[in-house]
Amino acid sequence: MRSPRALIVGMGIGGLATAMRLHEIGWEPVIVERAEQRRPAGYFIGLFETGRATAQRMGVLDAIGNRAGADSITYDVERSGKRRPGLGYGDLPGDPRLILRGDIEAALHDVVAPRTEIRYATTPVALDEAPDGVDVTLRTTGGAAAGTTETTETTERFDLVVGADGLRSTVRRLAFGPDARFMRPLNHIIGATILKEPVPGFRPHDGIVLAEPGRSAWTFPFTDHNPGLLFSYRTDDEDAQFRRPPIESLRRAFGPEPTGPVLEHLLEQFEQADDHLFDSVHQVEMESWHTDRVVLLGDSAWCLTLYSGMGASTALAGADLLGTLLQRNGDGIPRALREWQQRLSPFMAAQQRSGRTQGLTMFVPQNRKDKALRTIMQSLVSRPLGKRVMTALAARQFKEKSVDIAAV
Ligand SMILES: Cc1cc2nc3c(=O)[nH]c(=O)nc-3n(C[C@H](O)[C@H](O)[C@H](O)COP(=O)(O)OP(=O)(O)OC[C@H]3O[C@@H](n4cnc5c(N)ncnc54)[C@H](O)[C@@H]3O)c2cc1C
Repeated sequence: MRSPRALIVGMGIGGLATAMRLHEIGWEPVIVERAEQRRPAGYFIGLFETGRATAQRMGVLDAIGNRAGADSITYDVERSGKRRPGLGYGDLPGDPRLILRGDIEAALHDVVAPRTEIRYATTPVALDEAPDGVDVTLRTTGGAAAGTTETTETTERFDLVVGADGLRSTVRRLAFGPDARFMRPLNHIIGATILKEPVPGFRPHDGIVLAEPGRSAWTFPFTDHNPGLLFSYRTDDEDAQFRRPPIESLRRAFGPEPTGPVLEHLLEQFEQADDHLFDSVHQVEMESWHTDRVVLLGDSAWCLTLYSGMGASTALAGADLLGTLLQRNGDGIPRALREWQQRLSPFMAAQQRSGRTQGLTMFVPQNRKDKALRTIMQSLVSRPLGKRVMTALAARQFKEKSVDIAAV
């Protein structure tokens, strides 16, 4: 009997985790990735228990590691340079592991790459689904990574197609419809990178939060790596943000007041970075993430956004559960996909709700009232007793980030 073949589109956390689980249950996964090579380590990630439990079960938790520093302090700072100890990401209930996106991808890639066919510079351009398989036309763009100088197209049959190709998913567009039907804008822009130079006057392993109504800058410290930087701001005109260089949009969003030393340093570091992310923030909302033989997973299906802090965890959990249910259902692929969605949908809806309310406000105070509340809270947590009380109060909100949703 031949092994079922799955095409996995996208080699992020979702795609790699799916490839790992499908191989474990006896499938033959093939990964196609649009980029010509693996991505750099990327930005900061907090991995909560939902993701940790899955990674543990998949045997990759130790390889993912933890870059949280024991004596790290996160400061709430003003433009003037005034600072007070506050709450950093690592202080959140649920004790998230503080890592880079690339730490999870590398841990998975080490297991997956030796036993999986990976085609770079390759993307699907057409899907034709039949009851017993999907014919996929794949386009490989010529170049060194593809091992060919010409752009080629081939059509191949797969038993299942998994779209793990992120927020602006091609598989979603081909199988379900245009982006605008499913992408819900949160009217915020993010700019993320890694700092080359720590902020003068702060220890490299300390964090910084500069939060003002409608805009914020965070740094995320690591023990053994330069800190991550995240700018976030609200806008009513997303398109305009992309008509000029990202640094110009950032400077406008944080103007017109003088930047002050800390913000100026962060803006300069963003401008000088070799690699950065500058993008609008959207959730993805769909009634169904699958047909009978095409399924979306991770950001392409339920993008929770960075404000939920659960995108990486749920990409892992979604892949793990998909493997389990495909194995249990044998030939019944559509049944497995239905069970999978039923199990995950309520959880993702709850994560989306909290992501666009408490999560968003935690990263970016939306108005003066949020900012004032934040200031009161920061002053409370600057005392050990206050910090314990606030953490205990927040624990209820964060409980849902500890559910092992893939456990069966
Ligand atoms: C700044 C930032 C901070 C974040 N912080 C957190 C956090 O603290 N905690 C957390 O859990 N999550 C966080 N997230 C979310 C998390 O990074 C994602 O949810 C997670 O990485 C899962 O992504 P994915 O695999 O679904 O998609 P992606 O990471 O987007 O990967 C998609 C892959 O598909 C490829 N691709 C795209 N189109 C095609 C195509 N047509 N053909 C072939 N390949 C294609 C891309 O090149 C990419 O490799 C954060 C996200 C951002 C942006």
